[in-house]
Amino acid sequence: MIEFKGLDKHLRDINSLIREVGDVGKRPMGVLIKPLPDGDGYIDRQCSHPDCQTLFKVFAKDWEGKCRGQSEHCPRCGHNNNNYHFFPQSVLLRTQMAARNVVETEVHGAIQRALSGSSRRDIIGNEITIPGPDTSSSTSVTVSLEAFDSLQQKAECPSCGLRYAIIGAAYFCPACGINLAKENLDVAVDRIMGPLETIQSLKGTVEDDEYKKLEDQQLEAVMVILVGAFQLYAEGKFVSDKRSEGSNPRKNVFQNLNESSSLWKGFFGTSYEEMIGPTELEELNGYFQQRHLLGHKDGEVDSDYINRSGDQGYDVGQRIVVNRDHIKRMADLIKRLGKAIQETCAVQK
Ligand SMILES: [Zn+2]
Ligand SMILES: [Zn+2]
Repeated sequence: MIEFKGLDKHLRDINSLIREVGDVGKRPMGVLIKPLPDGDGYIDRQCSHPDCQTLFKVFAKDWEGKCRGQSEHCPRCGHNNNNYHFFPQSVLLRTQMAARNVVETEVHGAIQRALSGSSRRDIIGNEITIPGPDTSSSTSVTVSLEAFDSLQQKAECPSCGLRYAIIGAAYFCPACGINLAKENLDVAVDRIMGPLETIQSLKGTVEDDEYKKLEDQQLEAVMVILVGAFQLYAEGKFVSDKRSEGSNPRKNVFQNLNESSSLWKGFFGTSYEEMIGPTELEELNGYFQQRHLLGHKDGEVDSDYINRSGDQGYDVGQRIVVNRDHIKRMADLIKRLGKAIQETCAVQK
């Protein structure tokens, strides 16, 4: 009979190894991501909708109270999901790596313990903390979150008070999900105007003709978006008011000030002219007509434009010029009309 010296010990080692490694698989593991705020107290978020992926921030203390454990909304596209889905990709990648490290450490530790015959011990000394639904028994991974310092446009939800920050325009509150443009036209207009400041800060850093091109494009884009914001807001106010029940206004009617003013007068008793004054309405109508040209004629002046706007400064065939003062004035008039519409609704409801 051939005797394998020490075979028993090897078998015991192997059995012990199988047990140890098997236990690693049985132990609950998940990932708990603890968001750490930046210097201003904001934590980073990212929309999980594949087409959007907008980066934004929410004020950590507000997030705890208003978003944590609940659904969260993307301020840009309104995508709604559990707030665990709103961790930025970069953080998730780092968490994945951290989680893999922990698992590897567990397995490695199990092998070491099995081979050395030492009793099982818990893993200690991880600088990372991972959890799942069952946080009590899971390993912990602390992942520090990067701050998107360039996200400077801070805002506060007029409805729930959440403080957040985003580059560019926000259309939805990340916590309560209200449509900001529908609820508060001032907020929407300020957001839309924001990028104009950014463009201005580029002056002197790029060639003059490049800057002019950029600014012209931006001004025209802002003019189009401002009309869209007004349309959304006015339509929202109109259809949510009981007095307009059954009216079924045509699509985009609120982009036409004369037509929608008649609607308002007919259903609620006050025209836009009565709200902000005839001169102001005429001026605003001129901007809305220019927006129509930009949207449908690439800005080329036609006789319809001259008739509808009363603008005698252009001949047919010219291209309209949108400047910064026009846009500021337009934004101001839209805000005034929005406020008046709000008051009309509030008073007569
Ligand atoms: Zn989004
Ligand atoms: Zn809110």
